[in-house]
Amino acid sequence: PYYHVDGELVPASRATVRVDDRGFRYGDAAFETLRAYGGTTFEWDAHAARLEATCDALELTHGLSRADLLSRIDEALSANDLADAYVRLSITRGVQPGKLTPDPDVEPTVVVYVGSLPRGGLEGTPVWDGPAALETVETRRIPNDAVPAAAKTHNYLNGILARQELEGGDEALLRDEEGYVAEGATSNVFFVEDGVLYTPTIDGPVLPGITRRLVLECADDAGIPVEEGRYRPERLRNADSVFLTNTTWELRPVGSMDGVTLEEDGLMRDDDPTDDDRIFETLSRMYD
Ligand code: PLP
Repeated sequence: PYYHVDGELVPASRATVRVDDRGFRYGDAAFETLRAYGGTTFEWDAHAARLEATCDALELTHGLSRADLLSRIDEALSANDLADAYVRLSITRGVQPGKLTPDPDVEPTVVVYVGSLPRGGLEGTPVWDGPAALETVETRRIPNDAVPAAAKTHNYLNGILARQELEGGDEALLRDEEGYVAEGATSNVFFVEDGVLYTPTIDGPVLPGITRRLVLECADDAGIPVEEGRYRPERLRNADSVFLTNTTWELRPVGSMDGVTLEEDGLMRDDDPTDDDRIFETLSRMYD
């Protein structure tokens, strides 16, 4: 495989970042996880906009246009002959030994990592093995005025600590400081109750997921009523169905929450599952 490092395609074995890179030393970096379908980067403008928002929050200027960044992704995809792929784009504040205060003259480090990932959606092969076991954890999603939850930085310790708490489950459910559901360690969360689709508001400490927004738009188009709000974990445990979203998983049903089975097939448990099935299917169709 070949990866893109600082504007050059290099074989994987030589695709390295220096030990005095600020992304390594301090997590001083912005990133995006994307997917390519049929050789085209999915929702590029949305990812590029979120990356710009992260860079603004970190006051990290890299001087590369959206077109430059996209062409590096395209080059990495073609060099590896990949059409359906996982793409990770990272921009660190660059190599700067010694001090915490950023030197404005340092060149950023730009890395594009790609790997094969088959098509998902209802017709394809989802990357997940089956419905997720979701566990509510004690680690909280802490809002931080300096680094907002909306910034996607290399510092993922919040999610890592949450994942380490798992007792055999697949995804950790983080609450905010007041106990309301925020999101998964690397996913946004939705639930369906009586035909209404609910998801925690991004006014709380929640990453504004690109998949989350697509699901909300798709629900709107399909005439599915939506509410964004603040919910306790009990609401999810008692819901007709629960699912998670992120770029790699797309839509992933939740089969159990805190050890309580929601439904054998991971989707529904009300007497008339048609509505929930229909909603999950309608929303998943956007990938087909
Ligand atoms: N929330 C967190 C904390 C994440 O890390 C991610 C993605 O990795 C998501 C939500 C989902 O975001 P997206 O749909 O843009 O992949």
